[in-house]
Amino acid sequence: MPHALVIGGSLGGLFAANLLHSIGWTVEVFERVGDDLASRGAGIGTHEEMLDIMHRIGITVDASIGVHPLSRTCLNTSGQTHHKMPRPRILSSWGRLYRALKDAFPEKNYHFNKTLLSFSEDPDGVTAYFADQSQAHGDLLIGADGIRSSVRAQIMPDVKPQYAGYIAWRGLIPESSLPTALHAEIFAHNMVCYPDGDAMTMYAVPGPNNDVREGHRAYNWVWYHPVEESRGLADLCTDQSAHCHGTAIPPALIRPELIQTMRANAHRLLAPQCAQIIDLTPDPFFQAIFDLSSPQLVQGRALVLGDAAFVARPHVGMGVTKAALDAECLADALKHHGLTDTALALFNRRQVLFGNRVIARARHVGAHLGAQATKAPETWTEEERHQDPVRMMIESGTRLRDVPQLIELVLENRRAPGG
Ligand SMILES: Cc1cc2nc3c(=O)[nH]c(=O)nc-3n(C[C@H](O)[C@H](O)[C@H](O)COP(=O)(O)OP(=O)(O)OC[C@H]3O[C@@H](n4cnc5c(N)ncnc54)[C@H](O)[C@@H]3O)c2cc1C
Repeated sequence: MPHALVIGGSLGGLFAANLLHSIGWTVEVFERVGDDLASRGAGIGTHEEMLDIMHRIGITVDASIGVHPLSRTCLNTSGQTHHKMPRPRILSSWGRLYRALKDAFPEKNYHFNKTLLSFSEDPDGVTAYFADQSQAHGDLLIGADGIRSSVRAQIMPDVKPQYAGYIAWRGLIPESSLPTALHAEIFAHNMVCYPDGDAMTMYAVPGPNNDVREGHRAYNWVWYHPVEESRGLADLCTDQSAHCHGTAIPPALIRPELIQTMRANAHRLLAPQCAQIIDLTPDPFFQAIFDLSSPQLVQGRALVLGDAAFVARPHVGMGVTKAALDAECLADALKHHGLTDTALALFNRRQVLFGNRVIARARHVGAHLGAQATKAPETWTEEERHQDPVRMMIESGTRLRDVPQLIELVLENRRAPGG
């Protein structure tokens, strides 16, 4: 029985692990973090094609998977409705998807506290070397270790994430903490606000313990805001002891005055409903937004998938779905061709094409935000100069099945999984 070593036990790693397990492989997952990741909280927009893959793994996908908003409503900066349209996608949470995928996988084969340092290949397969001095040997090594992937660094040292020129402030508040009037106005809807230079989206997701009962859910928000890299981002990532953490800082170390400034900016720039939600959030955090694309996904018997391979700007809500589709394509290729160069070349060809198309679409949707901090105004294209709220609503809310250049590749993979 072939044996896969999956590096990274987040959603991409768990999709790959479950799917390979389902085709008869022995799979072991190695995760750097020391305990259950389910408390990582953030909203995740789903696509039906990702839910299909959960179903294929044997996970029950029912109404508890997420919250279905009644509408997508765009507010202007005074708080009045500018435009309203249906919101067809289910909004779930990272923890809800993780719990389902983790519980579907054999517990004894999932190893916490295992940080991959490097790997080597020989005629018998691949050996992974971990920080605790342990080793593991398998036939295939799958790097699902995220945007700063150690596996990618070894296969393609020159491929690095490119800062997109803006960050996402994020937060999650319990449903019960919304004042009654604000709850009645916004909770059942995906509210967005797109003033020139900024973009805000907020929506209900499952609450603690993945609860979707009324009163027990949570309200998730993401505010995209331009920040210049060398001074602005570096300052945001500098803690109270003047230590700069690079381009990401643990949420607990964000300086309180930066959070105060962020809240004040929200009142200045966004609809009052958005600023109120931000004020109600005790512990907002941020992530810098990056583009990452890899020219190849496979080298020998090692490969990368999910965010380790491509990272698209989050406006199209495709990160988890793409990781699931990468894993599906890999499992199908291995099922049809066994562990051969043919199988890995098929995976590589299909998912490089898919990844590039997702990146291009997400860049286009985020073009206005990206230009704000990275380009001189006189060089902005029309698309970069003005943000059309209705276009943003349509393009960021579209289902995968309604994006022809993407769905044609998914359907081709599913029609002819062996190529
Ligand atoms: C603001 C924002 C909003 C988003 N919204 C959405 C959305 O609505 N819908 C959506 O689908 N996606 C969304 N995404 C993207 C989504 O979160 C990611 O695409 C997705 O989580 C990728 O999963 P992954 O498993 O590939 O990588 P990750 O989730 O980054 O997991 C990598 C794992 O590898 C582990 N690891 C790293 N290095 C090592 C090592 N050396 N050894 C062992 N383990 C290691 C890490 O601890 C981690 O658990 C959003 C992203 C952002 C920033």
